[in-house]
Amino acid sequence: MFGTEAYGVELTIDADETERLLSVEPADVSSAPELTFAKNVFIPLTTACRYTCTYCTYYDPPGAASLLSPDEIEEICERGADAGCTEALFTFGDDPDDRYTEIYERLDELGHDSIHSYLRQACEIALDCGLLPHSNPGDQTREQMELVADLNASMGVMLETTADVQAHGGPRSKSPAQRIATIATAGELDMPFTTGILVGIGETATDRAESLLTIAALHERYGHVQEIIIQPVVSNERWRGGSPDLETMRKTTAMARAALPEEVSIQSPPNLAPVDELLDCGIDDLGGVSPVTDDYINPEYKWPALRELERIADTAGVPLSERLPVYDRYVSSEWLSPRIEAAIDADTEAGRRFRSLLG
Ligand code: SF4
Repeated sequence: MFGTEAYGVELTIDADETERLLSVEPADVSSAPELTFAKNVFIPLTTACRYTCTYCTYYDPPGAASLLSPDEIEEICERGADAGCTEALFTFGDDPDDRYTEIYERLDELGHDSIHSYLRQACEIALDCGLLPHSNPGDQTREQMELVADLNASMGVMLETTADVQAHGGPRSKSPAQRIATIATAGELDMPFTTGILVGIGETATDRAESLLTIAALHERYGHVQEIIIQPVVSNERWRGGSPDLETMRKTTAMARAALPEEVSIQSPPNLAPVDELLDCGIDDLGGVSPVTDDYINPEYKWPALRELERIADTAGVPLSERLPVYDRYVSSEWLSPRIEAAIDADTEAGRRFRSLLG
């Protein structure tokens, strides 16, 4: 039995349900009839993070962390829009803490008292350039999310795992309950949401099942989870713990497909996961491909070119379709703010491009 009541979110996962999910094998799920992807530009707004996850090469320590300037954000967005992207993918470390004095001084110079206030300006820049913002700002309070919700087509945070693992440990430990609360807050705010699990960071198979069932329970409550990412941890300069083996990835991906209703996409990132070997495990989305920026989360693993996505779809024998950062079923006033709806409805080149991708 897994449960949480922290941060005002009450959730209980039954042990029988966990056992049932643990019995799922790849042969129990169907291959998807189509694969999808989105074209995005990666915009690492800040590399400051209050946490120090032991597998992460994204964050920089105080003194080395960066904050993109408005001009840099605009330049990346313009390059992305010119290349035909639809999504401005804003990535963060989690809230910078008191150690990052330079980041706060820089924010102050720019007229902001918080990173979320600056994110709001960054989203405005992206929308002005003809891109739809999708922000991944880590854990968020309701107040923080409300500050930027109307300027995002969708948002995301990886749950990673419901387990307390050493990889999140240390003096500033990331808390699963806080992530669960962030996903629940997105549901309360009707924000289409992307989440996922990180495989191989010290969690057990039971933890993976409980994590997937937690996401499923949140989706059942709010209907807002548009996709979940099944991501293996990979070796890098900070992580020497290795990656999960193929059997684990296949089983976990199949468990994800079985845990979530059909409308929720299962994403496998081709730059990190052995996608060719997962095509029969229920994946139906290949995530974002960026023609103009590196993958800043995992800079050692380049995004594959679009050609590579086409090759994967050919291998699967299914069509490949481009999608928006918000899935089609959420493109309505029930889910999107007037500002995002207006961007999609606009009689502009960007608006026409957005509408051409809707099914
Ligand atoms: S994984 Fe996320 S929360 Fe953890 S250190 Fe990296 S950026 Fe921060």
